[in-house]
Amino acid sequence: MTARNPIGVHALVWVGGTRPDEIAEAVRRTRAAGFDLLELSLHEMEVLDVADTRRALQDAGLQVACSRGLAFDADVSSDDPEVVARGAAILQDSLEVVAGLGGSVLTGALYSALGKYGRPLTSAGRANVVAVLRDLAREAAGRDVTLGLEICNRYETNVINTARDALRLADDIGEDNVMIHLDTYHMNIEESDFVTPVLEVGDRLGYVHIGENHRGYLGSGSIDFPAFFHALATIGFDGPITFESFSSAVVSPTLSNDLAVWRSLWTDGDDLARRAHQFIETHLAAAASISA
Ligand code: MN
Repeated sequence: MTARNPIGVHALVWVGGTRPDEIAEAVRRTRAAGFDLLELSLHEMEVLDVADTRRALQDAGLQVACSRGLAFDADVSSDDPEVVARGAAILQDSLEVVAGLGGSVLTGALYSALGKYGRPLTSAGRANVVAVLRDLAREAAGRDVTLGLEICNRYETNVINTARDALRLADDIGEDNVMIHLDTYHMNIEESDFVTPVLEVGDRLGYVHIGENHRGYLGSGSIDFPAFFHALATIGFDGPITFESFSSAVVSPTLSNDLAVWRSLWTDGDDLARRAHQFIETHLAAAASISA
């Protein structure tokens, strides 16, 4: 029997941003729905009150994880040194925020903009990703922060679309505190199945996003969750499993557009999240029962 996975929820299930009133609401509703962890997007980190948020999370007994992507004018996968430098500066500031929150995970599309590229990644661009993330990882290690490479689909990045791409990138970065982050929504678009990538990543898997193929209610779509949870049990994954769902019912001025959230898949975030928590617990228990 493995240790119990922390079960998390993305803040965009509750609120569009990270202003103090939004953080207070997200913390309250995350706890009420029974989650262990709140994931905060750092896309508007300039409005985030770090000390206040840290206190609110601690008071609620919640863990935190932070995620983000970059932007086309601040992109470490660019060939242009100025664009790379702006991306690296954003990553540096993000690391400060994670450490300030008392967090140990900074993940997402740390390696590129979150959006559709009109051309493949260049070798110079890839070398810039490796150099910037190596420096960031070394600095993060001194702050007990792990970096995640979230594998995203082809219309959100051209850097890593599959587990194999991500493993190669992590090998080239070559730092122990760089882990792989799988997301079922992206796997459904890019991978051949929900088992092979998990087994390939193995003990380098550090973080998981659970999302349906349409990013709505878990169990209302076509993703093979039993296969995925069985694979997690097979590798003994005990890291965070965070529910991601997006609807036009809750809008972030920046992130919603980057994620192409154009329609309403739900309106009641509390009901959605409670059912998602139960769904994840049920699948974890079912998978554990046959892999014990
Ligand atoms: Mn994700």
